[in-house]
Amino acid sequence: MSIAQNLENIHKEVASIATNCGRQPEEIQIVAVSKRFPSEAIEQAYKAGQMLFGENYIQEAEKKIAELDNKPLFHFIGHLQRNKAKTAARLFDCIETVDSFKLAKSLNGHLEREGRVLKILLQVNIGKDPKKAGTTEQETEKLLQEIKQLPHLRAVGLMTMPPLTDAPEEARPYFRNLRMLSERLTSKGLFDSDHKVELSMGMSGDYPIAIEEGATIIRIGTAIFGTRSY
Ligand SMILES: *Cc1c(COP(=O)(O)O)cnc(C)c1O
Repeated sequence: MSIAQNLENIHKEVASIATNCGRQPEEIQIVAVSKRFPSEAIEQAYKAGQMLFGENYIQEAEKKIAELDNKPLFHFIGHLQRNKAKTAARLFDCIETVDSFKLAKSLNGHLEREGRVLKILLQVNIGKDPKKAGTTEQETEKLLQEIKQLPHLRAVGLMTMPPLTDAPEEARPYFRNLRMLSERLTSKGLFDSDHKVELSMGMSGDYPIAIEEGATIIRIGTAIFGTRSY
């Protein structure tokens, strides 16, 4: 199957799942996760209409973005080290994985020098998984309050990776908990008021369930580009 066909199938799936649970398909954005695939794969997806991509590694993303003829939007979805914050602040439209005030402050400083404002999501470790990055539910509120003081960052929502499970259905309670957390934080006015609140959750194996639980951003790699070779 080609990248274009895979994208078409996913769009159909997303539309049918959304409609079945009373949502509008347009509420759900697909981030095409192109990590470990070459810039040619990004070009192919772009030609098929995909405008938004996700990358996990700063150096890899920097190289690939420089190779592209077109300029799609990129979300950063990997673990961001502070010594890469400067490059990240320049390359990405949104950083989905902010999980500390130190990192947020560092990004804000670089953005100030670039004269840019950047959307961010807070990565929440909703399953308290020792193997995963992210804030605890309790820390999330405090961190959002602190980030409100940083003029070059706009916190627009939450992102999570649930613990790895055998069955996609097992991810449902984590997705639901992230949505409930975001609703509590929204009612406290902690997200940027000029933007709709985003929930980034769901990958190739479990995005139907994430959509049923309120995802507005799904991050799809394998189902678009195929299996990663490393
Ligand atoms: C790799 C990755 C994805 C995509 O995973 P697939 O299972 O290939 O769809 C989504 N989110 C994050 C944070 C990732 O690292």
